[in-house]
Amino acid sequence: MVKSSVLGYPRIGANREWKKALEAFWAGKLEESELHAQLQDIRLNHLRKQQEKGISLIPVNDFSYYDQVLDTATMFGIVPQRFAYSGGAVPLSVYYGIARGTKEAAASEMTKWFNTNYHYIVPELDGATPALTENKPLAAYREAKEKLGIEGKPVIIGPLTFLKLSKGYKQSEMDGWIDKLLPLYTQVLQELEREGVQWVQIDEPILVTKWDAADLQRLNKIYSHFAAAVPGLNVLLQTYFESVEQYSDIVSLPVQGVGLDFVHGLSGNAAALKQFGFPENKVLFAGVVDGRGIWKASLREKLALIEELSEFVPADRLIIQSSCSLLHVPVTAGQEQKLVPELKGALAFADEKLDEIVLLTKAAVSGEASIAQEVEACESALDQLRQSAARNRKEVQQAVAVIGAQNPVRNLPFAERHIAQQNKWNLPLFPTTTIGSFPQSAEVRKARQQWRKGEWDEEKYEAYIREQIDLWVELQEEIGLDVLVHGEFERTDMVEFFGEKLAGFAFTQFGWVQSYGSRCVKPPIIYGDVAFEAAMTVEETKYAQSLTNRPVKGMLTGPITIMNWSFVRDDIAREQIAYQLAYALRQEVEALEQAGIGMIQVDEPAVREGLPLKENDQAEYLDWSVKAFRMTTCTVQDTTQIHTHMCYCEFHDMIDSIEAMDADVISIETSRSHGELIHSFEENTYKLGIGLGVYDIHSPRVPGVEEMTSMIERALRVLDPKLFWINPDCGLKTRGAEETIASLRNMVEATRIARNQHALQV
Ligand code: GLN
Ligand code: ZN
Repeated sequence: MVKSSVLGYPRIGANREWKKALEAFWAGKLEESELHAQLQDIRLNHLRKQQEKGISLIPVNDFSYYDQVLDTATMFGIVPQRFAYSGGAVPLSVYYGIARGTKEAAASEMTKWFNTNYHYIVPELDGATPALTENKPLAAYREAKEKLGIEGKPVIIGPLTFLKLSKGYKQSEMDGWIDKLLPLYTQVLQELEREGVQWVQIDEPILVTKWDAADLQRLNKIYSHFAAAVPGLNVLLQTYFESVEQYSDIVSLPVQGVGLDFVHGLSGNAAALKQFGFPENKVLFAGVVDGRGIWKASLREKLALIEELSEFVPADRLIIQSSCSLLHVPVTAGQEQKLVPELKGALAFADEKLDEIVLLTKAAVSGEASIAQEVEACESALDQLRQSAARNRKEVQQAVAVIGAQNPVRNLPFAERHIAQQNKWNLPLFPTTTIGSFPQSAEVRKARQQWRKGEWDEEKYEAYIREQIDLWVELQEEIGLDVLVHGEFERTDMVEFFGEKLAGFAFTQFGWVQSYGSRCVKPPIIYGDVAFEAAMTVEETKYAQSLTNRPVKGMLTGPITIMNWSFVRDDIAREQIAYQLAYALRQEVEALEQAGIGMIQVDEPAVREGLPLKENDQAEYLDWSVKAFRMTTCTVQDTTQIHTHMCYCEFHDMIDSIEAMDADVISIETSRSHGELIHSFEENTYKLGIGLGVYDIHSPRVPGVEEMTSMIERALRVLDPKLFWINPDCGLKTRGAEETIASLRNMVEATRIARNQHALQV
């Protein structure tokens, strides 16, 4: 009989109870015992919900006190040496120390979990002597059974994925590490087997990325070892986020179940299934409900998909489940009160997805007629959204079709417009600037809240923002910066600000998802055709420009960043969404230019985040991302200078695309990975204007002049001095005013020294 399952459930709680408990504990407002009690409540609540909805195989050990990768590391006693840990159960203070840093020791690095916006703590293997400190999956299994009578499915990150995501060892030491970890994993599994566990889910999402013959040997070794050690335990090898590479090797591994993503990896996995079939002795865990998107599934389409799958796998070997953990979607759409009905009706967050999975399973068991009503209701909800005015803005669709067919290029190539721009702007050698935002003091945030609540009227708020602009324009002049900004005081968030002013966006009240640790984000939803309605940034920028003779840069968030930091509709390609955004933002660029703003920065810090997992798909994504950026910026005059900004450091593999964006000036974060980036410029020459961040804005420390001059000198060894700009790493909104002013003064002084030195050399 067909059964249902999910891969994991969000841990944050419908009202972010989890986040609140963690933060209260960190602030010393909650005893450790109280934290354990509160988190247990939350955990049991989530299990109960899945039980009541009727999920047959409920995941346990998907819950965490911070992050599941960190859990795996500490379960195996892998703690960086700087935390003075000497074995045994890892205390909570050490656990949170690794995640967040302590007075004595820096936190471990954090990085993106595959292509999601979830960030995990990178395990550091150097110097670690792994040992099993506690069997977490076993404890989770027992708890669910004792408290709720649930026969849970423990979830564990698989050895190959765990090692590949870790750092602090050489490639040649990989096999040695497998030998060290294998006995520990085995002990965990043996204890589960002894306890009577039926299924264990071993996550190996790394298998959807490229892996090689040596990895296949490793997989064989690992899973044969398990097969021999725990013959009575059913092992589910779970993959997600894409189709697997080397399907036939994977389904031949000695495991009892294989989990495949039939949403994000649909075409690849379905094709492989058709070509190679599915082994008769295994269970297929079919991820048919999108675990990452927020939209209702078309039950009709899903039924057809399940029908197709059942040609290859009989009912008693088929499990219907989400495509990945529900960690990546908000908890429930039920609480939303402010969304238009056609949008609300088409949403499915975690809880609604549980219902979908249960319904589809019911249909697979008792026939489609058993859910006929629900299918109809679902299709009609989806239809309503499809037919809504928001999704049918003909003028946008037509305009985007027209400009999408054009090749967006500036009138003149860079070398020529650079001359025109130099003539117009007369900037000194190594112009100095900032990335856009200035400190958002408690006062600024409070003013914005008062205005949002209606306690301040428009006029009062605008006057307040203008005062801030006055203050900071004067400061920038006094510090001696060459290109100024207005400071972004009117913005809480660089995506939300534009989303609220463009048509096609919606904002939920409770749609939070975990980004890392206790940090949650509430992404906007792009649910309709995106349209420009009225100028969004012109007033503030124009005002700032009226206060000074130096150029003020207009400041926009780029199309790809807006898209990558939002939940987006799934009825049209992401490429099309990007072009709609580009078309809307282009109108803002033009409005700024018409208002006399001659430098316009279009920030794209999130381009890299959208990079597809499959290498084969990356070039295409980068191509249309570059095109969207150019579409946004290509219509300006030759003398109008287009800037862009990117954070994050892994640029070496996309420098060509960055260059192809054809921005007159780019500012990039580099101070945390300076050597690496400089190195990539040794190999690739960059021919446009570029500013390398000369100091790290993520710390309140005021960097010294010398530090920055040496940074500048090193950069000038590989970059053309005539194209070189000097700026901090990123926006300054999280910094204090005092340290910002001191740091910028030092930066300007470092620039003066660099200019003098350069004059002596030539
Ligand atoms: N202009 C934005 C700022 O300065 C850029 C932020 C970012 O790169 N994330 O805040
Ligand atoms: Zn940045």
